[in-house]
Amino acid sequence: MLSSITGLLPQEITEKLELDASFRGRQIFKWIAQGAETFDDMTNLSKDLRIRLKEASSVYSTRIKQTLTDPDGTIKLQIELHDGRFVETVLLTDADGRKTACVSCQAGCGMNCAFCQTGRLGFGRNLEAGEIVEQFLHLERKAGKLDNIVFMGMGEPMLNLDAIRKTIEILGSENGRNLSKRRITLSTSGIIPGIYDLADNGPAIRLAVSLTTANEELRKQLMPVTKANPLQDLRKAIKYYTEKTGIRCTLEAALMHNVNTNDQAADELIAFARGIDVHFNLIPWNPVESLPFKEPSRQEVNHLMERLEKGGISATLRTRRGRSIGGACGQLGKSQAEDGKN
Ligand code: SF4
Repeated sequence: MLSSITGLLPQEITEKLELDASFRGRQIFKWIAQGAETFDDMTNLSKDLRIRLKEASSVYSTRIKQTLTDPDGTIKLQIELHDGRFVETVLLTDADGRKTACVSCQAGCGMNCAFCQTGRLGFGRNLEAGEIVEQFLHLERKAGKLDNIVFMGMGEPMLNLDAIRKTIEILGSENGRNLSKRRITLSTSGIIPGIYDLADNGPAIRLAVSLTTANEELRKQLMPVTKANPLQDLRKAIKYYTEKTGIRCTLEAALMHNVNTNDQAADELIAFARGIDVHFNLIPWNPVESLPFKEPSRQEVNHLMERLEKGGISATLRTRRGRSIGGACGQLGKSQAEDGKN
């Protein structure tokens, strides 16, 4: 059981800390959203109260163990959890200066995608809401106000949906950080029941699906999640989500040399996307020494883009960021793999 309070809403803070008035819970909640890390930072609380609160609880349960910065401005934090496990959190800044926090929702990941370093770690445990909220706040203190959050770091968010929902409630609260749902994206490897759950029960946030390939047999090899979540059923679930929420879905594909970039691969992507409101984000695969894949050539990527365009598909080629610090897609968790910890 954590003794921190970053995963609590104002009323829950009031109850946990046995405060004499509910406005105190709102005050503390607001301080946390504004970046306070300790009760001593909360200067409108009396000194006696601060002393009592410090004895009862800490504000945070995690700490930054390491900060790495790429020349392109990407920042990667290695964050130590209260039980000694580690997760990684990445700040991405786009060409217009918009800042996005890419946060982890699990320590390690059990999905075992063949092209992903985190998958090599195996599943450690689900993170609690406070541990996810703290990743966002740690980054915000380092980099200034953040514009977006994406649940796309280590782990499969659909398998920790309760904590994701609580995180969204906390960061979206008008009393605190007030982050709009339009600025929140959940990226899944394709867990179909989770997509229906999110569509039916909310919150209505942006959905991204890491598709990688629309070839069933190849996808089973690259992403074992496909065995229990076949592509045609996944397609139906994505269609349902877009129609129910009115939000266009992003399909992501990490492009690997001679794996998922040829004409057949492009035609399969076109067929998958036809009739559903989706946009493709294509990401040239980022090298991970221990994995048997290669980056695609520029020519290979351009050819695929042209074929998709001719097929009437809307696609964006994402710039690779944070490679020198192992902060790019698929690279998270290298240091843990070396330490044997997740
Ligand atoms: S790509 Fe995502 S779902 Fe797949 S192993 Fe990596 S972290 Fe897990």
